[in-house]
Amino acid sequence: MSSEIPVKQVDPSPGPSKNNKKGEAVELYASRKKIYVKEVKGFFQRIRNVSLTLLMGMYFLFVWLTLDGQPLIHFDLPAREFHLYGATFYPKDFILLSGMLIICAYGLFFITTLFGRVWCGYTCPQTVWTFIFMWVEERIEGSRNKRMKLDKSPSSSEKLFKKSAKHAAWLLIALATGLTFVGYFYPIRELIVDLFTFQANGWAYFWVSFFTIATYLNAGWMREQVCLYMCPYARFQSVMFDPNTRVVSYDPNRGEPRGGRKKGVAPSEVGLGDCIDCGQCVQVCPTGIDIRDGLQYECIGCALCIDACDEIMEKMDYPKGLIRYTTENELEGKTSKLLRPRTFGYGIMLALMISAIIVTIATRVPAQLDVLRDRGALFSFNGQGRIENSYTLKIANMTEVPQTFTLSVAGLEDIQILTETEVTVASGENRSLPTVVDVPPESINESNNEIVFQATSGTDTSLSLETESRFVGPTR
Ligand code: SF4
Ligand code: SF4
Repeated sequence: MSSEIPVKQVDPSPGPSKNNKKGEAVELYASRKKIYVKEVKGFFQRIRNVSLTLLMGMYFLFVWLTLDGQPLIHFDLPAREFHLYGATFYPKDFILLSGMLIICAYGLFFITTLFGRVWCGYTCPQTVWTFIFMWVEERIEGSRNKRMKLDKSPSSSEKLFKKSAKHAAWLLIALATGLTFVGYFYPIRELIVDLFTFQANGWAYFWVSFFTIATYLNAGWMREQVCLYMCPYARFQSVMFDPNTRVVSYDPNRGEPRGGRKKGVAPSEVGLGDCIDCGQCVQVCPTGIDIRDGLQYECIGCALCIDACDEIMEKMDYPKGLIRYTTENELEGKTSKLLRPRTFGYGIMLALMISAIIVTIATRVPAQLDVLRDRGALFSFNGQGRIENSYTLKIANMTEVPQTFTLSVAGLEDIQILTETEVTVASGENRSLPTVVDVPPESINESNNEIVFQATSGTDTSLSLETESRFVGPTR
């Protein structure tokens, strides 16, 4: 198996050159040739159907679920809150989001190193929606041959009906997708009522329309073009491959020389390999490539060609697996290693990042106390002859219920808060509280002293917050 990605050399410059001896203008743009994908059943298609049903089910269902009156998953952008399974995250928790993204990236690298583009083939939204659209197309317009015939046929009422029905079904799925996506940002029940009674704001109409059109175009019209020309992962994933990466491959040692023969004829009888050159692997390929040409960047690892070829092998009474998940080493008769330095590297990084996120979430205190010293006046003497300093306390409540905090200050003898010492902060609120503190002059020996503000919740005693600050007095 060749791991080289074939690159066609083009020379756009006019005039003779090494690759263009006649000096003809070279067309850099190639118009898309429509791919008519043949439906196939088989082991890997069943696996994809399961993953597709699970993922679509989660996507369309979770937006409707609530927990204790709160949406299960909800990005509340105006309030700058993210509700996830009963927990609320705020911009302060951005580090967690960054950690999650890093975990996803390392997870993808780790899986790609081991099994190639399984993400693309089974779980990528582009693949999932394209397969749903192809399924609808097959139900309405019929099999691959019927679709090709329909496209070539002159206009007729039947053609108009089938095409209209297909596009209407695609648009409905796309609309449901767009509504659901926006429903993760705008409570779905309100969204649907507001949209259809024309009470939603303009952005809601814009984003629902945007995601509807994007889904319709990407899964209905552009399909493999998204993978080939728009997806950056298709371009850089090959650097994660090595001779031990398990990818969908054709076994040329077994298949070549290829050639047609009657059913039941053994390859040795006709001096050929196991490939009967039926072309089924090409007809089922959603990117329109021939896996027998070797590993190509267009291959999304969907394994439809494995299912198609296995069906042929079964009919011919040959062993299955002419196209299979295998490694370059195995095809060359060498042993493959599952664990190797790069899998260890990605695996260790992944384990470290997951552990760090778990520890961060487990030790996360869902409240925060920030103290800002009033920089306008360093200190002043009040009517009792005591020294005063002013602060702004900011208390953020990231729990799901209101919290009543009792405030105190320590660090100097006889230090006290003169302003409010009890404050109720609503769920999700970040409350600012002007606070004045004083001490008798004899309590301070330095001009700049360390003090500690404390805020303890009476609602949830585990919420006890402490933040250091400075108390400034006259120079001694
Ligand atoms: S499906 Fe199998 S037998 Fe048919 S052309 Fe492809 S590799 Fe050869
Ligand atoms: S060659 Fe085509 S059918 Fe086979 S795994 Fe790659 S994308 Fe899928």
